[in-house]
Amino acid sequence: MDNDTVNRGEDAVLRRSDDGYRALVESAADAIVSADAQGRIVSWNAAAERLFGYPAGNVIGRPLTILIPEGQREAHERGLDRFLASGAARLMGRHVDLEAVRADGSVFPVELSLSTWTTDGRRFFSAIVRDITERRRTHERLARQALHDPLTGLPNRALVLDRIGQALARCERRDSSVAVLFFDVDRFKVVNDSLGHGAGDALLVLIVERLQSLLRPGDTMSRLGGDEFVVVCEEVFDIDQARHLARRLSGAFAAPFVLGEREMFATASLGIALGRPPAATPESLMRDADAAMYWAKERGRSRYEVFDEDMRAQVLRRLDTEHAMPRALERNEFRILYQPIVSLDTGTMTGVEALVRWEHPDHGLISPAEFVPIAEDNGLIVPLGSWVLRQAMEQAAEWHSQHPARADLHVTVNLSARQLQDPGLPFAVATAIDELDLDPSSVTLEITESVLMHDRDVSLARLLDLKFLGVRLAIDDFGTGYSSLAYLQRFPLDVLKVDKAFVDGVALGPEESALASAIIRLGHTLHLRTVAEGVESPEQVAHLRRLGCQEAQGFLWAQPLPPSEITACLDPGYFAA
Ligand code: C2E
Ligand code: CA
Ligand code: CA
Repeated sequence: MDNDTVNRGEDAVLRRSDDGYRALVESAADAIVSADAQGRIVSWNAAAERLFGYPAGNVIGRPLTILIPEGQREAHERGLDRFLASGAARLMGRHVDLEAVRADGSVFPVELSLSTWTTDGRRFFSAIVRDITERRRTHERLARQALHDPLTGLPNRALVLDRIGQALARCERRDSSVAVLFFDVDRFKVVNDSLGHGAGDALLVLIVERLQSLLRPGDTMSRLGGDEFVVVCEEVFDIDQARHLARRLSGAFAAPFVLGEREMFATASLGIALGRPPAATPESLMRDADAAMYWAKERGRSRYEVFDEDMRAQVLRRLDTEHAMPRALERNEFRILYQPIVSLDTGTMTGVEALVRWEHPDHGLISPAEFVPIAEDNGLIVPLGSWVLRQAMEQAAEWHSQHPARADLHVTVNLSARQLQDPGLPFAVATAIDELDLDPSSVTLEITESVLMHDRDVSLARLLDLKFLGVRLAIDDFGTGYSSLAYLQRFPLDVLKVDKAFVDGVALGPEESALASAIIRLGHTLHLRTVAEGVESPEQVAHLRRLGCQEAQGFLWAQPLPPSEITACLDPGYFAA
């Protein structure tokens, strides 16, 4: 379409050149600047004076480019030529954003709305000029918010993925790899829950400051949300270099953090993935570093793990396990094995410890060390634990009735933290004892030292209720949980189980056996029966006997066995031979 036709309205207006039109332009809130085809300013309103700081008399007749920052003038001249040559069709009615310069030299962003007209065969154009400093600032702030975490100001996930992408692109030239380090603060929820979110946020900010002080100039740190952070490092040439980085960044957690009056230690679990294109993508590196971090958590937190392909399989298996567990109980996939506990005096099996196994249809027999912690997390330990308890008690009742001479056989069941918290536990035990007509003193419930000490008041209340029923109580894994002896004395315990870690040292020499010896003596002082765990050699037996330990269990006598194989062990002379 012919431009002259399009703009005939304005054309007519200008041609009329009436005072009304001039007044309109003059009083407009927006700066309006007109120029001729050579780019010389022909009109300049009051708002333009205010905006640029030039009175009309200083600019009329001068080139438009005085309004453009020096470095950009040439480009604008070319643009102006094109604009005029094209008949202005391309830019007509469009908004153009560019930089302008004021009389005092300050540069600011503007938006131009262009129009053009012809009068007496001469071409003119004008621009409504708006200062968009404020708009741009808002825009930048919003864009920044979208790409940065508001608490720490760090790049967020979207931006860090972009940065990893850029780093990967540079890898090809440098023949190096990109390392992604994924941090997760350990037990951060505890801080939030106990000290409040304000304290949690303050801790995160302190952690970020520490980490940032350890970064190299080219490294990028990002907060993914919550207590998860990512550090991206370029120019990493091998895995040792990545490990070195991990160790250095872990140093951020060595000193305590000061939160107001409080000093606290925090730790983090850290996963590392290393890669270069084409195999590695931003997403794959993040996913692998995340998996490695997950694995570091699984392996006890406050450590780092480097991703490898086996790890993916392990993580998948773990997730699989977690997913399949709720149905395993319904499908009856759990089994209980019983490990004989033997009197060190007579060699007779005095009891058995019930140890649960999961017979997974695809993965075979899974150890409780693998699934009990998961069951603790997802709460399944409560129904699973009651099932084990009931099952083991039924089994004991069956042995007692089938072998009346061995009605003294004990059955020992492990209790988890969650079970101990359950106020319904004593009632469930009482009901089972009643229904099965069991002698309550033939049931021993084991609680690990750390569980017992965790919530001492609850533990004590629950233990007193259980004790009242007549069952025996054992403290398990003793020596690993830093008990307060004063508290230990208040718990109504009957048995102390010496952890395998101490039993292992017993035959090695006087120094190594000192702890086992101290623990057994403590048992005597507190009038507890001592049971050694994980006994594997006759030398250990000799020493344990000498130290006055009364009972033991371990591979030396038997592994955990199915109930059918326990029957043979009931004979008092079975292990003595
Ligand atoms: P725990 O209660 O300390 O059980 C002793 C563990 O040591 C058992 O491992 C047993 O098989 C193993 N063990 C026994 N003798 C020896 C030996 O001579 N050498 C070695 N190396 N190991 C020996 P298991 O059956 O894998 O159970 C591991 C842990 O899982 C148990 O440690 C217990 O804390 C937990 N657990 C097992 N069953 C249950 C359950 O029904 N409920 C709960 N809450 N936890 C359970
Ligand atoms: Ca145990
Ligand atoms: Ca134990």
